[in-house]
Amino acid sequence: MRQPLIAGNWKMNGSRESVKVLLDGIKHSVHDVSTAQMAVCAPHIFLGDVQAQLENSKIAWGGQDISVHESGAYTGETAGSMLADYGCEFVIIGHSERRTYHAESDQLVAEKFAAARQSGLTPIFCIGETLQEREKHITEQVVARQIDAVINHCGVKMLGEGVVAYEPVWAIGTGVTATPDQAQEAHNFIRTKIAELDAKVADELRILYGGSMNAKNAADLLAQPDIDGGLIGGASLKSADFMTICQAAQ
Ligand code: PEP
Repeated sequence: MRQPLIAGNWKMNGSRESVKVLLDGIKHSVHDVSTAQMAVCAPHIFLGDVQAQLENSKIAWGGQDISVHESGAYTGETAGSMLADYGCEFVIIGHSERRTYHAESDQLVAEKFAAARQSGLTPIFCIGETLQEREKHITEQVVARQIDAVINHCGVKMLGEGVVAYEPVWAIGTGVTATPDQAQEAHNFIRTKIAELDAKVADELRILYGGSMNAKNAADLLAQPDIDGGLIGGASLKSADFMTICQAAQ
């Protein structure tokens, strides 16, 4: 039985004050969520505040990126050990915004996956096709290529130590959500592909959907058999919306 996970991706938003207000709101209704796991992935500069507010709560937290290096002359980067030092359980890897704006390749993302595991973090490994790729009917080829990069670098067992987030790029931050059928089809493809290598890993792997999931559409998406939770951008910045999604995941 896969425990649902709802993870917020705050991206580069907020202030110390707004983080406090947001987390107060989440903690206020945390008791309404019994079975789903909850996490927030914050800008790294706020992780100390997040840790102080969430320690001893049942809400986990994480970073939004990781360096492949352990330490040294890599200005502006964050090592896995640093994220772990701030109590992070999760780290987002290969988000489409990093693949697009920072030219992160499949290989680099695979190396980041390994770096996260080395620091004991659970990678939330993002994959997904662009609109152009969907229109060319190569969605499956694209996500297969992205997954294969991690399997080739880390092995399928290590892939199973992470969480996959299927995030069609055309749905991220656009207000256009994949239909439950479209999302289920992609999730089923991902699980079936992994099952060809390791049925147990595939069966236990949590595959989240991400892309304009919100308080209104979450229940229908989360009702699909291969959708095990969500990676939530915009809607994770409002505590009421985020908690409605968490409740829909039960
Ligand atoms: C995301 O950034 O991972 C995301 C899914 O964003 P949004 O929910 O805003 O589409």
